[in-house]
Amino acid sequence: MNLQQPIIIAQDIQKWYGKFHVLKGVSLTVNRGEVVVIMGPSGSGKSTFIRTFNALEEYQQGKIEIDGITLTDDLRNIEAIRREVGMVFQQFNLFPHFNVLQNITLSPIWVRKWSKVKAEKVAMQLLERVGIVEQAQKYPGQLSGGQQQRVAIARALAMQPKIMLFDEPTSSLDPEMVREVLDTIRTLAADGITMVVVTHEVGFAREVADRVIFMDGGLIVEEATPFNFFQNPKEERTRKFLSQIL
Ligand code: ADP
Ligand code: MG
Repeated sequence: MNLQQPIIIAQDIQKWYGKFHVLKGVSLTVNRGEVVVIMGPSGSGKSTFIRTFNALEEYQQGKIEIDGITLTDDLRNIEAIRREVGMVFQQFNLFPHFNVLQNITLSPIWVRKWSKVKAEKVAMQLLERVGIVEQAQKYPGQLSGGQQQRVAIARALAMQPKIMLFDEPTSSLDPEMVREVLDTIRTLAADGITMVVVTHEVGFAREVADRVIFMDGGLIVEEATPFNFFQNPKEERTRKFLSQIL
């Protein structure tokens, strides 16, 4: 793991929804193998910002470079970037009419052009890794929220991304399932995958993050090591936010 090597470079990203200036010049560099946690009040632009990294959101100004590829609006370029960046959402977004194995193998078969045999072999290894290999034949509706989210993680990993983006991956889970999902994400960090995680889970941020970024009003207001962020926040807005979640 080389912490000096940037894999995500977002420079001065600005975005408007109509007249609403949602990202007001946000810059972030993430190094290879680094785990960055993004926190901030609802509506501060966290989701919008990380969704620019894999072209799920357009932006009007600024520049994004992922693993040396500069994002343009050329479809082939976007596809190349999406192959490098896996994403896990708050609402799992599994295909309800496909079973677990089919959910995971769909993209590797269609996008990576893997054989069904190879895709299923890799999928089973990933299900092992996220701890739900016995659920392979079930449908999403037959699984708990925590299990569904682990399928979603396995599905993203099946594309062998270099970067994983998590957008509040535990926010729609019942409390007893939060830990199993956070533990799964923690093991990925230990494996050295670069991760950007939007979460308000303070314990996770303290233990797993290399850096915590605090966003408010479409700007990065503060960034620090987890220790400094939680023990010694510099900005008033950060302190106010922390007083609400700690
Ligand atoms: P966060 O993830 O920090 O809660 P978001 O990035 O989802 O914030 O949203 C930032 C702001 O942009 C919010 O005020 C939200 O209402 C607004 N917003 C998000 N998506 C859209 C959209 N498609 N059209 C207009 N406004 C939007
Ligand atoms: Mg959000």
